[in-house]
Amino acid sequence: MLLGTCRVNKLNHLEIGGCDAVELAKEFGTPLYVMDENLIRENCRTYLNSIRSLHENTDVIYAGKAFLTIEMCRIIEEEGLCLDVVSGGELYTAIKAQFPAKRIYFHGNNKSYDELKMAIEYGVGRIVVDNFYELELISDLSKKYPAKNIKVLLRLTPGIEAHTHDYIKTGQLDSKFGFGMENGQALLAVESALSIKGLKLMGFHCHIGSQIFEEEPFKDAAQIMVKFAKTVNDKYGFNTREIDFGGGFGIKYLETDRPLPVKEYIHALVTSVKKCCQNYDVPLPKISIEPGRAIIGEAGTTLYTVGAIKNIPGIRKYVSVDGGMSDNIRPALYGAKYTALIANKAASPKEERVSIAGKCCESGDMLIWDIDLPKIDPGDILAVFCTGAYHYSMASNYNMLPKPAVVFVKNNTARLVVRRQTYEDLLSNEVYLPPAKKVYTASM
Ligand code: PLP
Repeated sequence: MLLGTCRVNKLNHLEIGGCDAVELAKEFGTPLYVMDENLIRENCRTYLNSIRSLHENTDVIYAGKAFLTIEMCRIIEEEGLCLDVVSGGELYTAIKAQFPAKRIYFHGNNKSYDELKMAIEYGVGRIVVDNFYELELISDLSKKYPAKNIKVLLRLTPGIEAHTHDYIKTGQLDSKFGFGMENGQALLAVESALSIKGLKLMGFHCHIGSQIFEEEPFKDAAQIMVKFAKTVNDKYGFNTREIDFGGGFGIKYLETDRPLPVKEYIHALVTSVKKCCQNYDVPLPKISIEPGRAIIGEAGTTLYTVGAIKNIPGIRKYVSVDGGMSDNIRPALYGAKYTALIANKAASPKEERVSIAGKCCESGDMLIWDIDLPKIDPGDILAVFCTGAYHYSMASNYNMLPKPAVVFVKNNTARLVVRRQTYEDLLSNEVYLPPAKKVYTASM
């Protein structure tokens, strides 16, 4: 499955962004996250152009939780997207990248006082308020910063849960995120937000799931959110200026995955919002979206070096690589599936069925079960595709494994964007206390 600029070169090697993956592994070591910069930029443009062609008043907000580095902030900024951050750390990254404050949306279900203060001081464009406690904190802060124009969206739970083909409308209130729409919490939140001086309510937000392959959940979300806009208009005379529909647009992890073309998701969403606004007779708001995985997921490939191979005749061949759940937690966390090839035997015929094991001390640390590959040997470079989103950002130091380096490739050039952690880095936060001095003995 060759996406973006991936192709097989004359040496029968995988090439990404014009760079030979085997050479990348030699130069930067493995495991290595390789990011296809042209594909990232193309994805940004596809989302922005698709939505702008239907509705001028929009923000495409990259969900930084998928993958965030200073360089990524820079690319997102250049491509004209906004940025969704969910913590002080993500906000700090954006600040270090000098990302324009007004284009930052600050999310999270438990923002601390200090995080909110930092966001207000930096002047973020929107705070997406998740709960009543947060409204209280912002109310306090608005008194301390009267000159700051604190613009907020309220996060609502529209009762839609969508993940790949699994789509349910539950009227589900049982979520840690947002204000429930069915139990009146959302209306109370509007009342409360409207009563806080120094806070400007701009509209509403929802996020209905991840890796969605259908139009229907987005159409339903449009219907529910616009109906809510109508209700608050009737009840409080409040004009909803913005609705942010979150992320969740599906991508292709496997050959068999069938995400919709971007234009189709966007068309379904925007036309539904427009139609509902007409039906309910409410002004058309700004329509925003927050793709994360869809911008960065397919652009990432992880390179590993193959090590131990354990064959259990008649049962299974385990092929171990030099990374695992420490750089890709998704198979262990939610049974995520991937495809791969051997970068130094890229177009060779498939000869054997193997399972790819990580090197962490967990039986559950398996990256891929039952994949057909050419004959595989220790020292081969395995390339696992579609590892751009929620890999580096979810990486850990489990088993004291250093986090891999991140390299951006483009037009035959590779740029190191994050260096590999060293063993020293692993210990850098440890405080070595000298042994306590003896100050008292019983015989004194
Ligand atoms: N927006 C919000 C509020 C989210 O919680 C998430 C993911 O959890 C996203 C956007 C990005 O979702 P995705 O990467 O599936 O597009």
